[in-house]
Amino acid sequence: MPSEKAKDNRSLIATCVACKKPVSTELAVTLAGEEDGRRTLSVVCVGCANNGWRPPGFRGVYAVRPD
Ligand SMILES: [Zn+2]
Repeated sequence: MPSEKAKDNRSLIATCVACKKPVSTELAVTLAGEEDGRRTLSVVCVGCANNGWRPPGFRGVYAVRPD
């Protein structure tokens, strides 16, 4: 049975796919890309996103978050 506790509101930790560092989900963004015709979602920290990291096939627009 899946744990409902994973849905608690406390901050969770994600791993940035660009720098491989664990980051709070509050400081991470999910960028949609496309690889082999399939949509991919990559979680990166705001720092990497602001530095210009984008997943393969990224077609969206990333608005730099203030703060
Ligand atoms: Zn990063």
